[in-house]
Amino acid sequence: AVSPRASAEQLKDPDQLIDSVETFIFDCDGVIWKGDKLIDGVPETLDMLRSKGKRLVFVTNNSTKSRKQYGKKFETLGLSVSEEEIFASSFAAAAYLKSIDFPKDKKVYVVGEDGILKELELAGIQYLGGPEDGEKKIELKPGFMMEHDENVGAVVVGFDRYFNYYKIQYATLCIRENPGCLFIATNRDAVTHLTDAQEWAGGGSMVGAVRGSTQREPLVVGKPSTFMMDYLANKFGISKSQICMVGDRLDTDILFGQNGGCKTLLVLSGVTSLSMLQNPDNTIQPDFYTNKISDFLSLKTA
Ligand code: PLP
Ligand code: CA
Repeated sequence: AVSPRASAEQLKDPDQLIDSVETFIFDCDGVIWKGDKLIDGVPETLDMLRSKGKRLVFVTNNSTKSRKQYGKKFETLGLSVSEEEIFASSFAAAAYLKSIDFPKDKKVYVVGEDGILKELELAGIQYLGGPEDGEKKIELKPGFMMEHDENVGAVVVGFDRYFNYYKIQYATLCIRENPGCLFIATNRDAVTHLTDAQEWAGGGSMVGAVRGSTQREPLVVGKPSTFMMDYLANKFGISKSQICMVGDRLDTDILFGQNGGCKTLLVLSGVTSLSMLQNPDNTIQPDFYTNKISDFLSLKTA
């Protein structure tokens, strides 16, 4: 494992970093794009890295889309990235369930959006819930009890703009009453930038509600948990010391890279500013930091 530095070093010699690894894992929002806007210089930078024979992998904690849907987003932004290079936390949830041989006769209750449903479907895993439960309301009458499916063997919670009390109660009944029911979180990001005007409550808020009612800790499959890193290293047969994790967030991306024993590069094109990085209260220090990934093209050793 690569031991984390006491304090991050400003990236001065990108070629040295590029030559020292064979794979770059890029976080998406804040590194490749911001919302629906491509960040300056990204296409040229990815082209340059590919021309040097580097493997490129894209990892996002945003579970609202499937790999295929992200493939379209990359295409719309003019980037040639294949589905196989994209690892979203929606995919991670399905991959995790497959990795534990989730029983074919069991179902998953989904608190989340379309991306999770699509990935479960592709993995051949039965599910219920999702956006359609956003319409459901509970009318409390004396003696009223909510029914739940006893064949639910896992609850997957991700970011959900259709979150409501019905879903909290359904998830809670499954987790508390179905023996061995798993509680899986796609990610626990506290806040996210749905628009660049302000911070919005992230996937961690929905996960927090279900933690609150069940008093159980979720198994997190997205960053910073090691599941995706192990999965990727395994799939591509890469040694983690040959990976550089590039991200804009300290407590997800940089920690993900450090947990995996990878080199880490923080870019300041997303949610973390230089003053946040250098704040004495911050304990997460990447190996390097730079403004944006296109600095790979423009920074030259003196
Ligand atoms: N979750 C949601 C709902 C988001 O909108 C975002 C970013 O837009 C994220 C998570 C973080 O995504 P990433 O891991 O690509 O930075
Ligand atoms: Ca990010």
